[in-house]
Amino acid sequence: MKLKQEIQALYEKYKNDRSGEVNKSIPALSQVNADSFAISVAMANGKVIEVGDINTTFTIQSISKPFIYGLALEQYGSDFVESKVGIEPTGEDFDTVIKLDDQGRPYNPMVNSGAIAVTSLVNADTKKSRDEEVLGCLSNYAGRKLRLHSPTFKSEKESGDKNYAIAHLLKHFQILGKNLKQDLELYFKQCSASVTSTDLAMMGATLANNGVNPVTKKECVSPENLRHILSIILTCGMYNYSGEWVFDIGLPAKSGVSGGILMVVPGLMAISVYSPRLDKRGNSIRGIKVCEELSKIYNLHILDTSSPKKASEIL
Ligand code: GLN
Repeated sequence: MKLKQEIQALYEKYKNDRSGEVNKSIPALSQVNADSFAISVAMANGKVIEVGDINTTFTIQSISKPFIYGLALEQYGSDFVESKVGIEPTGEDFDTVIKLDDQGRPYNPMVNSGAIAVTSLVNADTKKSRDEEVLGCLSNYAGRKLRLHSPTFKSEKESGDKNYAIAHLLKHFQILGKNLKQDLELYFKQCSASVTSTDLAMMGATLANNGVNPVTKKECVSPENLRHILSIILTCGMYNYSGEWVFDIGLPAKSGVSGGILMVVPGLMAISVYSPRLDKRGNSIRGIKVCEELSKIYNLHILDTSSPKKASEIL
């Protein structure tokens, strides 16, 4: 079947799946329509295929983390960023309070401790605020201006005791400085950027298209830093399910507690699913099912050797 029919068929297949629960740790997230369901694909040439609740907006949450990590890499270079935050999976919950590696760094930029540390690095050029820098970064990938969802930002601030605890420990270990409150609020803001499933797919298509937004043609990240982003989401993008995800699905992907999953097929396309009912690890249940099926149907696993590259292509 062609991709468009396949996406439609997967949508029909899982439309009535009501398993899982919406996130309850951030009160604003528990108020969404639990049954929303959208699948969007954006090709590396900008063509879009979309089905379901494609106009429904939701907050990007942790799917912002790889993009802001990319921003820090662009601003400081990977050696500096790696001296602050490691690149190893933790095997622990994303909001664990907190575990540092033997060099005193958060394990990786996809768990909250590492992401808050990365966001604290972000600088703004003289004419912009740090908020604008962060939202501007996400917007460049999406190819349109993304806005902050203020109720979610407020809710994260009011209910974020665990993140405050993480931030204070980061300060205790001199990873955050005196701007703790401002740094943490910037992190809450990046998580509260409002997107549709097609925005996410377009952000992923920018990653799939060598860091260049396929529609606006804006270069959002250098090829080298793009490789770092994709490597990190391959090994750490799906919380403590990342190993199983690579084993079964084999593609770089990132998940968020609002119910989004973004999966990138480098050079080809990105797939985004929005479905807020989550499993115990915080991953969208229908999101995982759709991504797994698409990977199998089209043999997308990056380590699949059943269609090997021809030697003549590389000699
Ligand atoms: N804002 C959420 C938090 O910090 C993001 C978590 C997530 O999507 N995994 O807890």
